[in-house]
Amino acid sequence: MFGLMQSRGLLISSILTHAARHHAGTEVVSRTHEGTTHRYTWADVERRSRGLVRVLQKLGVGMHDRVGTLAWNGYRHLEVYYAAPGMGAICHTINPRLHPDDIAYIVNHAADCVLFVDMSFASLVSGIAERIAGSVRHVVMLTDAANMPDIALAPGMTLHCYDDLLAAADEDFAWPEFDENTASALCYTSGTTGRPKGVLYSHRSTFLHVYAASMPDVLCLRASDRILPVVPMFHVNAWGIPYATALLGAALILPGRHLDGASMADLLNSERVTMSAGVPTVWLGLLQHLRATGQKLTTTQRIMTGGSAAPPLLIEAFRDEQGVRIEHGWGMTELSPVGTYNAPKAAQVGLGKDEAVRHMLKQGRILPGIDMKIVDGDGKELPWDGVSFGDLLVRGPWVAGAYFGDAPGSALEPDGWFATGDVATIDPDGFMEITDRSKDVIKSGGEWISSIQLENIAVSHPDVAEAAVIAALHPKWDERPLLLVVARPGCALDPRSVLSVYDGQVAKWWLPDEVLVVDELPHTATGKLQKTTLRTRYRNHYLDSQR
Ligand code: ADP
Repeated sequence: MFGLMQSRGLLISSILTHAARHHAGTEVVSRTHEGTTHRYTWADVERRSRGLVRVLQKLGVGMHDRVGTLAWNGYRHLEVYYAAPGMGAICHTINPRLHPDDIAYIVNHAADCVLFVDMSFASLVSGIAERIAGSVRHVVMLTDAANMPDIALAPGMTLHCYDDLLAAADEDFAWPEFDENTASALCYTSGTTGRPKGVLYSHRSTFLHVYAASMPDVLCLRASDRILPVVPMFHVNAWGIPYATALLGAALILPGRHLDGASMADLLNSERVTMSAGVPTVWLGLLQHLRATGQKLTTTQRIMTGGSAAPPLLIEAFRDEQGVRIEHGWGMTELSPVGTYNAPKAAQVGLGKDEAVRHMLKQGRILPGIDMKIVDGDGKELPWDGVSFGDLLVRGPWVAGAYFGDAPGSALEPDGWFATGDVATIDPDGFMEITDRSKDVIKSGGEWISSIQLENIAVSHPDVAEAAVIAALHPKWDERPLLLVVARPGCALDPRSVLSVYDGQVAKWWLPDEVLVVDELPHTATGKLQKTTLRTRYRNHYLDSQR
């Protein structure tokens, strides 16, 4: 027997119409390409998104078609975010920092029929036009007539001006109802583990994710908040913030292309931002700027950091120097993306300063609605003792089951769980802590060594700017840790002094066999250490040096 409640679908358009009806006057503020500040409201976003649907229809976009974007965080991009899924099409956000070959591959793989492009990426699109002409018919520049660039496209492709198209469009569209399992958005993983793979979200998965991500022990968003997502809208839906702010009726501040410390400090203060979210690199840049200028953040209370591990310095410095609370979350493209968030339970409320920082380094508790477990190499579940570490698996309604183009369920383990590729511990309170990516864990004589733990200790050396530990092949132990370090500007590094920071911190057999001082380390398009490149280069280091 089914329940007798109404069965209205969980559609993204209902998030926007809620914002327009109940938070009509709440602001959406954008820094534009031209350096001006654009202001309008959630009511305007909804009205203009209806107009944009008419534009999409004129360009031949129908249900399930992919609409690509190459754009920073801005109001026109936000309108594509809502218009495309609202009409039943799919908003495909593309990471413009990827290599042009990867971008061309992604556009063709997704078969995008239209591309919406920020001015910054005009020449990028022109450069790959010939290669994407098989699917892309229209390129719409996200600007007005006065700023339209003069770029060459391929035969059969038409260049348009966003503002002109929208000015000519009717706003008489009514948001349709359709199955909540309809695909809404597409986002490719950054390809640290091979060719980029597409994660295809649905209206339902997006809706449930945004409900869970907004809760008090997660982003804790309120109608009185002013939120600035520094995390790009091309990086996993800006962690759900463009949807969450509409759902909760919070003001949304979109920073455009300038994400350096000075621009961030200026925007956070001038727009009275209460909460912001982004990767650690951005916050380290902001911290440097604040320290150099002595500037204070006047309204910001909380900063969410994720995407890679939160450095202790970040948590301490923002707390002690700015009175800002750093909050640590974990997730991935395949998880929509938020999976865990580190909010204290009653037991953590009274922790001393140092203990609190140590605890904040953990990636946090699972969001209600999804589940996680850790398993050993045989798939056997490991205890939640905060010590045992194993492969981290997740499942739930906003976790991917397959990649775009593949058969449903094909990305899952036989028991239906999704292997994240991360290695983690879980403590008795349910706080998960990442110890490695599974490809990076070092398997020495049958035991596992955590490369992340070794890296964290290496960067506690005062002269080390950055560190990477990789598994290098070893004739006796299979693999042994090799440490690569970059010195802080003006410092000379002695490998022996680097090794001395491990004294008393790890078991002797965890110690890296060798320390190499290098000029720089390679990074991915999303700023993470590119371990694949390092593995290729240094995999045989110990074998070669023994010859
Ligand atoms: P990709 O997997 O292609 O690099 P994602 O942006 O989906 O792109 O990255 C997800 C991965 O980033 C996670 O599986 C994890 O390894 C890492 N990650 C995300 N958040 C954190 C965090 N707070 N601490 C440590 N690692 C993190």
